[in-house]
Amino acid sequence: MTDFAKTRAMFDIPEGVTYLNGNSLGPLPSAAKARVAGVVADEWGELLIRGWNKAGWMAQPAVLGDRIAPLIGAPKGSVMVGDTLTIRVYQALSAALELVPDRRVILSDSGNFPTDLYMAQGLIGTLGDGYELRVVAPEEVSEALDDSIAILMLTEVDYATSRLHDMAALTARAHAVGAVTVWDLAHSAGAIPIDLTGTNADFAVGCTYKYLNGGPGAPAFIYVRPNLQNHVRPALSGWLGHAAPFAFEQDYTPAEGIARMRIGTPSVLGMAALETALDVWEGVSVETLRHHFITLSELFIAEVETRCPDLTLASPRDPAQRGAHIALRHPQGYAIMQALIAEGVIGDFRAPDVMRFGFTPLYLGEGDVKRAVDVLERVMRDRLWDREEFRVKAAVT
Ligand SMILES: *Cc1c(COP(=O)(O)O)cnc(C)c1O
Repeated sequence: MTDFAKTRAMFDIPEGVTYLNGNSLGPLPSAAKARVAGVVADEWGELLIRGWNKAGWMAQPAVLGDRIAPLIGAPKGSVMVGDTLTIRVYQALSAALELVPDRRVILSDSGNFPTDLYMAQGLIGTLGDGYELRVVAPEEVSEALDDSIAILMLTEVDYATSRLHDMAALTARAHAVGAVTVWDLAHSAGAIPIDLTGTNADFAVGCTYKYLNGGPGAPAFIYVRPNLQNHVRPALSGWLGHAAPFAFEQDYTPAEGIARMRIGTPSVLGMAALETALDVWEGVSVETLRHHFITLSELFIAEVETRCPDLTLASPRDPAQRGAHIALRHPQGYAIMQALIAEGVIGDFRAPDVMRFGFTPLYLGEGDVKRAVDVLERVMRDRLWDREEFRVKAAVT
């Protein structure tokens, strides 16, 4: 079994903090400090423009894509890093729609993250011509798949409740009716085992600042199934996805393979931080991680249910049906979370009443879970949340 003591020692977590918010922003990999400072001083500072070639800046989006690939069950040459997840959703959707030219419907579910739905709305607004976004309840997705559906666009793990979709079954069902799939792995990558090759998924996108710990605003990634790559027309046809960017031709010719999903200049400093974050994953098995996660989350649920009876579990009770965070409901959830944060237990809140607690054995052990529940019990029992200052909503919840 992998020894997570080794990975735990690779993160900087402030004294006195129990960090249960890796589902929103992973903590700082210690090595990122020196690496980012080094890229600033030695590469940007000394190499200047020569860094694009000499320090490998230009190759970094593909190099990092190949390092993310094994974590999501994808082969080399199928993942490209860069830009934001929101942009990647648009890029995948627009490419996928063109593969099914005689259909007009994007099917998604009400558990999807709003930005994914907004981007679909924006895209079909541009396309006009009868395109439609159809949103059904998560449990109705399978039934809603029929031969009118062009694209099935889903987030595998629900950002609020942690409910997990069956990627293999839904992809197979989508393919059976001739639809193309776009999977959002924002809450899956680095959290649960994913097998993009085995499930035959067409497109997948995700971010790297959640369970992959790439840092605030870290670049996103896109996966395109290898045998589709050269059939995909990039709507975001930026110069770095061109077959010969430095030929500066007037007309766009897409590069071969996944390289055509590049758009513009990569964020070199963000990539440097992500690189050290991916070092943590060397030798880590996501299957083992999953096993430990289940132990931690089951412990959390059991302790919460005996010690904090006013809180309701909003995540599926069956660990096989959920991702790597646990959601608890309470009408005062926001204030309770502020009180927890004031006591050094950091999670987050999603309207209207969901508190989220992210668990990963990468840097958390059973002691952290127990400490978190000790504080939660005290916050509930002594009504520590019942203060005016904890009701004032910040811009980011
Ligand atoms: C976190 C998350 C996003 C965020 O997108 P950004 O472009 O990184 O702001 C999008 N979709 C899902 C499903 C998410 O969980």
